[in-house]
Amino acid sequence: MVLSTLTKSDRSPVTTADFAIQALAGRLLHEKFPGDILVAEESSAMIKDGKAPASLEEITKVLARIWPETTPEKIFEWVDRGTGVPGDRFWTLDPIDGTKGFIRGDQYATALALVVKGHVQLGVLTCPRLAVQHGKAAVVKTNEGSVLVACRGQGAWSAPLKDGSSFSPIAVSSSSQPGSAVVVRSYEDSHTNTDQLDRLVEVLGIQSEPVRMDSQAKYAVVAAGVADLLLRFRSSNREYDAAKIWDHAAGALVVEEAGGCVTDLHGKPLDFSAGRTLARNEGLLASNRHLHGAALAGLRAISGPADDADKRG
Ligand code: AMP
Ligand code: MG
Repeated sequence: MVLSTLTKSDRSPVTTADFAIQALAGRLLHEKFPGDILVAEESSAMIKDGKAPASLEEITKVLARIWPETTPEKIFEWVDRGTGVPGDRFWTLDPIDGTKGFIRGDQYATALALVVKGHVQLGVLTCPRLAVQHGKAAVVKTNEGSVLVACRGQGAWSAPLKDGSSFSPIAVSSSSQPGSAVVVRSYEDSHTNTDQLDRLVEVLGIQSEPVRMDSQAKYAVVAAGVADLLLRFRSSNREYDAAKIWDHAAGALVVEEAGGCVTDLHGKPLDFSAGRTLARNEGLLASNRHLHGAALAGLRAISGPADDADKRG
């Protein structure tokens, strides 16, 4: 069982499992693609400083089950293969996206993407607590999770995690009535702006309450046609500067290849060539495509007075 939790400098939690998954991916990617760069969320600094001996012991034990020669030094090396600098071609990994959901017993995901010249070419999401059956996602807490894969220009598929060989194509919903749209948003209020979301829901006449969900599992439910709109507004938390590339790259391609559309809140495509963050974008809108225009019009309708008020301070 991998359970120890530490607190990062931005006060977000990180667990033994985050480090173990990043170490595993760091080692395997290096074996398969020795020249490739990996840009991942964690670094070994927290487990290297000797302040978390129990965590380091747990990570070492877990990986020694696969590679008996595992030592703490090897763990540091494998985790730090993820400290690469984004370039023309790189992989980006969030070992556990939605760590708060993982700890709470709710949704979380492991997200891996290949980015070439600023465009995501391959996206893989594993959602261990989300069932996607026959291309349809059921939001249930399950031990029979799913893996979703998307390849640019080729499509998006899902398979049960326990049988990674039986993939079925997934597709977004066909609903085009804003009033009946199903919206997904961050579980954590502090990761979005709930006032702006409430205003948009009202302007679009959306009947049902937005569904709160952690991690890129939100992209998975849009891609599988269960939700129609995914919205993330910039939070008022000043400590959180800009969205991180590993929080969006894999999910965005999964939605696009399932027939959906992904932009920022101004309708701008996500720009993965700006370093470790989406510094040239603001917020996020992912949709089934049919509702994208209506959502952008709603966003324009609610943005004027609020922006002016922000500028006045
Ligand atoms: P979600 O579960 O969709 O809210 O996304 C989880 C991700 O949000 C985490 O991986 C964090 O990197 C990121 N995050 C943490 N704090 C914030 C914040 N204040 N605003 C936006 N995203 C955040
Ligand atoms: Mg994350």
